Amino acid sequence: MNILVINCGSSSLKYQLIDSESENVLAKGLAERIGIDGSRLTHTPAGRDKVVIEQPMPDHKEAVRLVIEALVDAEHGVIASLEEIGAVGHRVVHGGEKFNKAVKIDASVIRDIEELSSLAPLHNPANLIGIRACEDNMPGVPQVAVFDTAFHQTMPKKAYMYGLPYEYYEKYKVRRYGFHGTSHDFVSARAAEVLGKKREDLKIIVCHLGNGASISAVKNGVCVDTSMGLTPLEGLIMGTRSGDLDPAILSFICEKENLSPVQMNDVLNKKSGVYGLSDYVSSDFRDLSAAAESGNECAKMALETYCYRVAKYIGSYTMAMQGVDVIAFTAGIGENSGDVKTGVCEYLKFMGVEVIPEKVNERGKEQIISTPDSKVTVMVVPTDEELSIARQTLELL
Ligand code: AMP
Repeated sequence: MNILVINCGSSSLKYQLIDSESENVLAKGLAERIGIDGSRLTHTPAGRDKVVIEQPMPDHKEAVRLVIEALVDAEHGVIASLEEIGAVGHRVVHGGEKFNKAVKIDASVIRDIEELSSLAPLHNPANLIGIRACEDNMPGVPQVAVFDTAFHQTMPKKAYMYGLPYEYYEKYKVRRYGFHGTSHDFVSARAAEVLGKKREDLKIIVCHLGNGASISAVKNGVCVDTSMGLTPLEGLIMGTRSGDLDPAILSFICEKENLSPVQMNDVLNKKSGVYGLSDYVSSDFRDLSAAAESGNECAKMALETYCYRVAKYIGSYTMAMQGVDVIAFTAGIGENSGDVKTGVCEYLKFMGVEVIPEKVNERGKEQIISTPDSKVTVMVVPTDEELSIARQTLELL
């Protein structure tokens, strides 16, 4: 069965068509600037050149229609007709406390995702638009919602509660939820598989280091702690997001700079992280590493601060799990940046972690990067959230 995986943003829509038997990606693409001037669809059939279709997309319904048109196109299509799409799997960002696993979408699931929008106002409404656009274009094709938060629902209360008045939890469900759950689940499962062990027998720390970054502690197959919180702003320093802060900084800066809470939120999400910390050199680690190498002190400091924060989280999750067997790096930075992995693993030497420098510096390859004698196995496991969504969609049907 072919499964269409959709990741819908407010003005964009990413897709992959995956053959669930071979797990091959038949085609993938991105619709951009939906509802804005200059909208375009970039469609890449597997093994062939990408095509760019510049056409107005006033809304997501039109974007999905164009995606289907591209998939069945005589020239750059990969299927003969819409009937060859057996199901659609949607990435949905916030499942709150309601969803601890993927679900088949019906009217009540849509209502629940809508209700959870107050917890993810930028994401859940966009995800819903994608769901409705697919329903309109593919009536009768089963749709599944896969939640970014679901894998973390096994966290114990002591890990997800904040030191705030309990009434905020009761009234507004203010607690830590965690994100990137599909990736943490996929990578921890794959790490165990590569090692020929059962995930249930392992203590695994997954470092998902991409533009957004989070880290999780997976003990005996379930998540016991993770670094992102009520929103994806907490935890590690990210590309442009601040991560953990003294909460009193917010009112302090708002007063000094005369910022509204909304403007402050914008600073924390878009102008902070290694981008802000490096005095706006870049949010991209390739640029940061190059700048640091050519002597930029701010870029160097941003990289050092980034690695230190990751290492501190590894330390605290080792304590939380009373040990660690495997540390797995994933996502753009985790898979590719030798500088970051080297910087983080320096701190782990005291616990007997020994890595092989040549392997640490190799890019994008699934492999063990620690020595056979290392007390903890350190690995790179490329993540594949789309494949995981396709698998979960198939499993439900
Ligand atoms: P992701 O969000 O997982 O797609 O990760 C994107 C980030 O990965 C980029 O912003 C870069 O900082 C980082 N990245 C990608 N390729 C490399 C590379 N070759 N070396 C260092 N960092 C990289």
